Amino acid sequence: MEDILTSKYGRDRIKLILDWIGKNGGLEPVMLPGGGHKYLGLEEVLPEGSDVKEILEGLEKAGLLKKILIGSSLACPKCHKSDFVPVLVCQNCGSRKVYRERLLEHVSGGHIGPESMFYKEGRLVCPVCKKELNEDEVRVIGAWFVCKDCGAKRPNVDYRFECLNDGEVFDVFTADFLPIYKYELTPKGEMERSVTRSDLIEAIASEIKAFNKGSILKELQGKSGLTHPFDFVFNKGKERIIMDLIYSGDMASDNDVLAFFSKYFDVKNKGDVPVLLAWPKMSDKAKSLANYYKIKFREVSSIPELKRVVRELLS
Ligand SMILES: [Zn+2]
Ligand SMILES: [Zn+2]
Ligand SMILES: [Zn+2]
Repeated sequence: MEDILTSKYGRDRIKLILDWIGKNGGLEPVMLPGGGHKYLGLEEVLPEGSDVKEILEGLEKAGLLKKILIGSSLACPKCHKSDFVPVLVCQNCGSRKVYRERLLEHVSGGHIGPESMFYKEGRLVCPVCKKELNEDEVRVIGAWFVCKDCGAKRPNVDYRFECLNDGEVFDVFTADFLPIYKYELTPKGEMERSVTRSDLIEAIASEIKAFNKGSILKELQGKSGLTHPFDFVFNKGKERIIMDLIYSGDMASDNDVLAFFSKYFDVKNKGDVPVLLAWPKMSDKAKSLANYYKIKFREVSSIPELKRVVRELLS
């Protein structure tokens, strides 16, 4: 993981970003009216005002994301904005005074003529048989472009772009050419995205340490004579909090709750508070069992949420 990114945004945030991109199957830009493009969606996991493009580029450099070219867009070579309109120009002299002349056919009669000859005083009339026609009785069978300045008639027309910001006229060769990318997780990004149990333990420990000057125990001697491991045992005022983290890919089960309770039951003293944190979820059965045994429990599915829950427990 690149240090600059980690120090600026924090590893937890980076995981959230990667997780968002992973869950959404990648991140594609949205084209904006008036030109340019934007990456939307990440603002859900980023602080306001974050520079999304900078983050994406940083993650790409760190090998966590790969960028895939999906297209390109143009921008004005003078002001670098993509706010422009296309303009048509004569292929012969470059004049903008070109117009399109279409070749129409009176379908049932097979009569052909230029579009201008089919219109008489706003009515559609076949120039050959002089019958008045409806729009659906004629079809376009060809077109060419006529220049008012030089008189050239060509089957095609050239086009340029005119910047609405500064009037600069440019073409595809002189324009700024901007590649457009979508981003996907690399295998390294996939690994970084998944939060390990020790990541969570570390996050909880740092919150407890920040709050509590006392020591954190990792095991307790039971009345049975057995020693039971716990993730965290620490004091909060007169209370002793005995806490385990149930880490599962899916849901903590009632068996997880039972296993915790049997350890806790062996070590408990007056004033002890049993706490279970479940990553990421807890089954309904597990919840009712925890309620029955008077175990405090919380479901957590992100590290910021986990830290918040731990702070709440401590305060
Ligand atoms: Zn411009
Ligand atoms: Zn011309
Ligand atoms: Zn006709």
